[in-house]
Amino acid sequence: MSISPILDNLSRALTALPGVGRRSANRHALYLLQNRDDAAQLISTLSQALEKLSPCSKCRNLCEGELCSICQDPYRSCETLCVVERLADLQAFERGGAYRGRYFVLGGVLSPLDGVGPEQLGIPDLLRLCHTENVSEVILAMGSSSEGEATAHFLDQALGASAVRRTRLARGIPMGAELEYMDENTLSRALEARSTI
Ligand SMILES: [Zn+2]
Repeated sequence: MSISPILDNLSRALTALPGVGRRSANRHALYLLQNRDDAAQLISTLSQALEKLSPCSKCRNLCEGELCSICQDPYRSCETLCVVERLADLQAFERGGAYRGRYFVLGGVLSPLDGVGPEQLGIPDLLRLCHTENVSEVILAMGSSSEGEATAHFLDQALGASAVRRTRLARGIPMGAELEYMDENTLSRALEARSTI
């Protein structure tokens, strides 16, 4: 039985968050209503973030000004551009610390049935950026979902007319994993992407 339509609305709104189902949304809603200081703090930091942060005009990372810290960093190479689906993917690369080039954040993958086409992903901006910044390599770092593969294929074709080298991430066996537990696709791809030692 519903306690209040307002509580129901709050729970429903929280299900928009990734990985939050109906039951955990309800739990979060009750927590916030019973811990009003935490709720107020959340509202204030969220509205500050919404007000201050916007997409970088070059790479669509989030930033406070026009350009993000990565695009402003003179020590990062403009020659390599890593195209990722989501901001969380950019953060994952940055945590690794090995990549010293720049990024472009698509914000999703091509999905014509959901109305997500090249324009929505900023692909015309990406193609322009490759041209104006003299990018020599584009790393198509999309995930291995069928939409991710289709998006990488589309970008590969779109960049086909230019001299830009297109690369994809190697797919393979995670560190420390046993071969016998790998699925066939991972094993086949790891075999295809083998390198000389
Ligand atoms: Zn940027």
